[in-house]
Amino acid sequence: MVHSVILKSIRACNLRCTYCYYINEDTPEYGLTMSDACLERVYASYAEYLHDNGARGSLVWHGGEPLMLGRPRLQRLLDLQRRFFAPGSIENHLQTNGLLITDEWIDFFKRNDVKVGLSLDGTKEVHDRFRVTKGGKGSYDLVIRAIERLRGHGIEVGVLTVMGSTPDGRRELMHLRDELRIRGADFLFPISSHALARRSPLDQKILSEFLLSAFQTWTEADDSLFTVRLFRALIKNAMGMPHNYFASGAASLGAAVIVETDGKVCMDTDFSEIDRYDLGSEYRFDFSVMDEDFTFAKVDRALHARIEERQLDRIPADCQSCRMRSVCRGAHPASRYDDRDHSFDHRSVYCEAMYDISDAVVEYLVRSGHGEDLADADLQHDLRTAVPA
Ligand code: SF4
Repeated sequence: MVHSVILKSIRACNLRCTYCYYINEDTPEYGLTMSDACLERVYASYAEYLHDNGARGSLVWHGGEPLMLGRPRLQRLLDLQRRFFAPGSIENHLQTNGLLITDEWIDFFKRNDVKVGLSLDGTKEVHDRFRVTKGGKGSYDLVIRAIERLRGHGIEVGVLTVMGSTPDGRRELMHLRDELRIRGADFLFPISSHALARRSPLDQKILSEFLLSAFQTWTEADDSLFTVRLFRALIKNAMGMPHNYFASGAASLGAAVIVETDGKVCMDTDFSEIDRYDLGSEYRFDFSVMDEDFTFAKVDRALHARIEERQLDRIPADCQSCRMRSVCRGAHPASRYDDRDHSFDHRSVYCEAMYDISDAVVEYLVRSGHGEDLADADLQHDLRTAVPA
C-alpha cells in the first residue's frame, strides 16, 4: 500500500549543501517546478487509489526547497486538493531548510494543517560546515530563528540530521534535545553504496562512534522526550515488530513513492545516486504520472515487482551468518548495491556502523529486562549461553 507520495515539487534551492544529492549548479533543468497538470494527475489518481483501498495517505512537499514555490502557488495547489480528496483522507507534510520561514508562512502552515520538518545537522560548528548558502555562509542561525519562530506560534518540529561529519553523537544529540528542545531527529546516513563508496569512501568509524555515543545519551533519558527514528526502528527489529523505516531493512519499501518534478515515478531517494552517477538504473520507473493509463494501483504493482525482482526485502546472503542480522536487517537496501554485479545481495556499505549500533541496541534491551523479547532465536541462544565476562 502506498501510504506516502513524496513530491519533488521544485528543482531549486536557496542553499548549496556540500553533500546534496539533488541540487547544484549542474542539476539538469534547475528551477523547474512541478506543473499544475502533473499535480492534478497525482491528486486524481492518488485520491482514487485511497478511496478504492479505504485508506488515508500523505503528500510530502519536498524539493529542492518547496517554500521557493511561493505561498500563492502553494495555496492554490492545496486548495485544489478539495476537488479530489475526501475530507480527512489526505495529510500534507513539508520538508524545508527553514530559511524562508516567516510569520506569514507559519500562519499558512496552521491554516492548511501542513506538518513541517526542518533540516538541521546539529551544532552550529557541524551544521555550518556543510549546509551553506550560495555564497558559502553557514545557515545555522537562520534555521534556529525558524525553529524559535515556529515554537513561538506553538508549532514543534522534528529535524533531519545527516551524520558523518563528527564522531560526537552525544554532543549533537544533547544539543538537539536539551539545548534546542526539539521533539525528535532522523539521523540519516550520507547516501552511499558499494558502487559510490569506491568513488567517495565512507568513514565507518565516525558513523559508528556517532551512533554509539548518541544512543548511549538517548537511553540515559526518557526516550519519549526525543524520538530517534533509527533507534526506535532497530529496537522494533530486535523485538520482531513492524515499522516503515527503510534505513533499517526494507520491510515496507512499497509504502512510499517519489514523483519527480517531471512526473516520473521513482523509488526511495537513496536509490537516486545510483542512477545519477550512471552506476545502474535503479531509481526511476519507466512510467510517469502524465501517462494516459497512469494509476497508483500500477505504481503499487511496479514497486512490489521491483522489490521482488531485486530482492530488496530479503536479508542478503552475505548477512545470513551475521549475529546482528535480525536487528540491522541489512540496513537500507540501496546501501547494498554494487555496480560490479548490479546486485543488492551484499552487506550494507554501512555494515560496520550498523553492526555496532545493533549490538548496542541488543545490549540495552537485555540490560533493561527485555532479553526474552528478542525475536531472533539464535541471538537468544547466544545470550543464554554467553559466559559472563
Ligand atoms: S551488520 Fe552488516 S552483515 Fe550484519 S546484517 Fe547488517 S549489513 Fe549485514
